[in-house]
Amino acid sequence: MVKDWQYSKRNQQCSDCEHSFTDGEDVFSMLRMFEGDLQRADLCRACFDARDESTDVVYWRTSQHENRQALRLDFDMLLALLEKLLADERDDRKDLSYLLSLLLVRHRKLRLERVQMKGPQEVMLLRKTRTKKTFAVESREMTDERRSELSKQLTELVDPTKEANI
Ligand SMILES: [Zn+2]
Repeated sequence: MVKDWQYSKRNQQCSDCEHSFTDGEDVFSMLRMFEGDLQRADLCRACFDARDESTDVVYWRTSQHENRQALRLDFDMLLALLEKLLADERDDRKDLSYLLSLLLVRHRKLRLERVQMKGPQEVMLLRKTRTKKTFAVESREMTDERRSELSKQLTELVDPTKEANI
C-alpha cells in the first residue's frame, strides 16, 4: 500500500501498476481515501478505468509532459474539493471536510461566520473570502492520532515542504 505518498516523491510511474508513463500520455491524478488514509495517486488509463470508484475523492486528467509544479493543488482546487466532499455522507469524508475547512480558514480562504447546532451536531458556517459563497461543515470529533495523520496528509497536498499545523 502506497501510504506515504509525498508530492516531492512523485515519480513518473503509475501508482498502481508501476507502468512508466511515456511523454504526452494521459495521466489521471487523483486523491483517494483508502482505509482511512488520504492518498495522492497518478494512474495510467487502464488502472484508472479499473479503479475502485468508491475510493475517489477527486481526480483530474493531466499529461506526462506537464510541469510538475502545475500539479500542485491550489486553493481554488481545494475549495472545489471541499464542495465535493461536503456532498458525501461517509464519515472519513466528513473528517476530511472538517480538517480541510480549518486549513482553508488558516490560509484565509474561508471565514468562520458562525457556529450553529443542528440537533446534537455542531456545524460551522464558513464563507469564502470576498464572496457570498458559504459552506456548512460539521465539526468532527476524532482522536488526536487520526487528526494529526489526516492533517499531515492534507498539508502535504498543499505544500509538501511544510509540517502539518492545522
Ligand atoms: Zn497503471
